[in-house]
Amino acid sequence: MPVNKEAYQQLIADLGSHQVELVAVSKTKTVEEIKELYNMGQRDFGENYVQELVEKQVQLPADIRWHFIGHLQSNKVKLIAPFVYLIQTVDSLKLLKEINKQAAKNNRVIDCLLQIHIAQEETKFGLDELELHELVNELHELKNVKIIGLMGMASFTDDMEKVRDEFRYLKSIFNKLITEIPIAIGTQPVTLSMGMSSDYTFAVEEGSTMVRIGSLIFGARI
Ligand SMILES: *Cc1c(COP(=O)(O)O)cnc(C)c1O
Repeated sequence: MPVNKEAYQQLIADLGSHQVELVAVSKTKTVEEIKELYNMGQRDFGENYVQELVEKQVQLPADIRWHFIGHLQSNKVKLIAPFVYLIQTVDSLKLLKEINKQAAKNNRVIDCLLQIHIAQEETKFGLDELELHELVNELHELKNVKIIGLMGMASFTDDMEKVRDEFRYLKSIFNKLITEIPIAIGTQPVTLSMGMSSDYTFAVEEGSTMVRIGSLIFGARI
């Protein structure tokens, strides 16, 4: 399926006016489809399976900034550590320690977002507020990861007021963190990744700085 160029350009204009970054979610899409969007200037792409990401990365231009947005198993971190730009889905200290270890092996610092559980569904991953605070207290040990913000996924529902409430909740945690994290790691968190095709307008209204959008640009996934 070709890229929806009108939708993409509209999105760029819309998000640009709010200074919101766009991660184009390319999971299940081909290397050719990704190249088409790359040729329109897009550089940030998101994938949620390690194997798929690794296969695509070697075939595509080196200046693509790859975001990992799926559930990440500790034993797979080493496969993406050499090149990943931002891991958006850190949901445990164990995982963060492994990212730190693999980043050190690659002589780099890997930027990460902590994933917060904001949805009603039990199936979604992420930290609750207590776990977040426990994790933040351990950060000073980890020199090869940098927490630059938070990520969250709202409930899958037509009730957009509920979705809005969940985004608002995430933004409130982000605000609290802004005062805490600099003390823990000496750097200000700046990125709040929330919003997908169906709910990004609400996310932007509630303070998102980064949206992750797939189907609106690439068409529905089969
Ligand atoms: C698939 C996915 C998206 C994009 O979803 P669309 O509805 O296609 O925009 C965003 N975030 C995450 C974590 C995803 O897995």
